[in-house]
Amino acid sequence: MKRIGLLGGMSWESSLEYYRLLNEMVKNRLGGFHSAECTLASVDFGPVSEMMKSNDWKGIERVLSAAAIDLKRAGADFLIICTNTMHLLAREIEGASGLEVLEIGKAVGEEIERRGLETVGLLGTRFTMERAYYKDTLAGFGINVIVPSAEEMVVVDMIIFEELCKGIFREESKSVYKAVIKGLQINGAEGVILGCTEIPLLIKESDADIAVFDTTAIHARAAVDHALA
Ligand code: GLU
Repeated sequence: MKRIGLLGGMSWESSLEYYRLLNEMVKNRLGGFHSAECTLASVDFGPVSEMMKSNDWKGIERVLSAAAIDLKRAGADFLIICTNTMHLLAREIEGASGLEVLEIGKAVGEEIERRGLETVGLLGTRFTMERAYYKDTLAGFGINVIVPSAEEMVVVDMIIFEELCKGIFREESKSVYKAVIKGLQINGAEGVILGCTEIPLLIKESDADIAVFDTTAIHARAAVDHALA
């Protein structure tokens, strides 16, 4: 089994979910007392989220590169970045650490391709929804990505940072997300990417009439496949 390096803490609410999923999946695959060989580098999300607010991506790159180098020293064989947003820095993190980054977008693209969908909606932080990471990655699979309106994006992003990353899960916010997903469906989405690793803690498959892609679970499964290959 390869050792999985988790770059987490963004937020720790979803890192906890990654840890649980990786261990459950390895146990299911190998049986007995088997569990995932992994090392977690968990950064302080306080300063990182401040740097996001001030668009200091160089600063974030320094923090995440240092954590990735720590994971390399600790014996990780490859990396998973436990946040969609920070995949904006995937190439830089890979370059700094010399470790392969198993990308969340590619794992999600493979899953959507397997399900045969052509157009999907995307929920996530405003960086994830506005920037080209998912659009470009999924274009490589022939999949078209649509995003909510500008006003909806503000609310979706606010709920992530003011609630989900702080472990707050409210019925009202679930209703807001369900309405945004409905809007994406009306605009042609055949499925929705929960493109923030905390959103699956609030939204489940039963909350939508279209296919739901839980990026945390899909990424964890891809990591286990890779670790056991
Ligand atoms: N975990 C989130 C994501 O998947 C948001 C926190 C962050 O900005 O890293 O994008």
